[in-house]
Amino acid sequence: KDSLAKIDPELFASISDENQRQEDHIELIASENYVSCAVMEAQGSQLTNKYAEGYPGKRYYGGCEYVDVAEQIAIDRLKALFGADCANVQPNSGSQANQAVLMAFAKPGDTIMGMSLAEGGHLTHGMPLNMSGKWFNVVAYGLDAKEEIDYEKMEALAREHKPKIIVAGASAYALRIDFERFAKIAKEIGAIFWVDMAHYAGLIAAGYYPNPVPHADVVTSTTHKTLRGPRGGVILMKAEHEKAINSAIFPGLQGGPLMHVIAAKAVAFKEAATPEFKKYQEQVVMNARVMARVLGEERGLRIVSGRTESHLFLVDLRSKKITGKEAEAALGRAHITVNKNGIPNDPEKPFVTSGIRIGSPAMTTRGFTEIEAERVAHLVADVLDAPNDEAVAERVRNEVSALCKKFPVYGA
Ligand code: PLP
Repeated sequence: KDSLAKIDPELFASISDENQRQEDHIELIASENYVSCAVMEAQGSQLTNKYAEGYPGKRYYGGCEYVDVAEQIAIDRLKALFGADCANVQPNSGSQANQAVLMAFAKPGDTIMGMSLAEGGHLTHGMPLNMSGKWFNVVAYGLDAKEEIDYEKMEALAREHKPKIIVAGASAYALRIDFERFAKIAKEIGAIFWVDMAHYAGLIAAGYYPNPVPHADVVTSTTHKTLRGPRGGVILMKAEHEKAINSAIFPGLQGGPLMHVIAAKAVAFKEAATPEFKKYQEQVVMNARVMARVLGEERGLRIVSGRTESHLFLVDLRSKKITGKEAEAALGRAHITVNKNGIPNDPEKPFVTSGIRIGSPAMTTRGFTEIEAERVAHLVADVLDAPNDEAVAERVRNEVSALCKKFPVYGA
């Protein structure tokens, strides 16, 4: 058969260039990772050809006997990984998993409560321009003066507004979340307690972050961040909520599930149950801690919340008189990839920001330990100290190149 390179050289070139970029740049975007070749093999399989509306054993199409096996394996592995009663592996993304929770437990106009986007929450937890913010009455909680979740205020808001759903979980919060405390107030006011563990899922599977599953009615996640699977979403739930969640995903929101992605999720869940994965997550946490220490204690930057207890942290750039947007661009020129990120009470607009978010999952997958993490933090600080100095950019690029060659992702 003809290769992609022959059939579509233009597209093939863009893929080759991206492959090379992933090899040559240090990836510090906290929500990204590199999947294994086994995950990619499953995702690139003939399962992409199959329609399978419905669930294993209850499909609306013929010929589902083998994809049923694949989906059931994914469900069983996911349940075992987190100790859940029930699981749905069909959400096409984290956002769609979250929409399903809203669809299952609330009606437009109902009140929901989530963490504000500006203080670390996710779009789908009630941001005004997102469906969650347009269709629901949103009460947002945030951080206290120490930049930790303001649990007392959250509880007071919950008692005052009696939301139908309370969501805990974040995209840019470095500390452990007290899921038990959220569960208690949700129970007190009769709300559904939903945790979006997208960022922390891999750490949780390995035991390095608190597991919300025993405390929550429903838990959503992406599969492609710390969990190191293909792009996609999943939902875990108590048995009593299985019917509501399953029908919210199909036929509520989605049609035919992406069976090739579900197969790839199954592979990732198998990998996540291994001792190697536990070791990997331990290193992820150590590497994040080392980078936060170097940037915060040795290089004069302020770390939001003062520390990290996870795979990520936010850096307040204001002492360097540089915006998040400028920092992202300067680091990009030095072949270090980060994303700009608002910090609490950020004076800059969301497209500019005063911060960057730094995460260790991807660099740890390629083999970086504390030694390289310390070096990477110094390289980041060197660029932030002289963002417009081309000589500094070139020196950092050379060092990045040497590190990347020493630790290839998929091999040359
Ligand atoms: N939930 C959280 C906490 C996230 O950080 C993200 C992604 O950034 C999502 C949900 C959405 O996932 P997706 O990009 O797959 O829609």
